[in-house]
Amino acid sequence: MQTKTVCTGCGNELSSSSKFCTQCGKEVTVSGDLITLDNVSKELLISIFEAAYMDVKLDNKGDIVVKEQLHCYVFLMEKQRIIRLLIVIRVKPGISAS
Ligand SMILES: [Zn+2]
Repeated sequence: MQTKTVCTGCGNELSSSSKFCTQCGKEVTVSGDLITLDNVSKELLISIFEAAYMDVKLDNKGDIVVKEQLHCYVFLMEKQRIIRLLIVIRVKPGISAS
């Protein structure tokens, strides 16, 4: 699945393979740029996970899912002031607490 990166300089939507913004020419980097209230977006969060070589995708509801050993949902909550992580842990059937 093709994900989009957003320029932290001007907000222009970029293809994930872009090295420079086609709008303002800013170099596309993730590390070193801060996530702020103005620039936080699902696309920026995804680009950060991708930069860390993590297996990340948008699911069919548009939620960010990080598929490492545990699947982790990433939600941008409350007018982008809260980033909530939700980890779903499944217990194998037949295992009981003893
Ligand atoms: Zn730009």
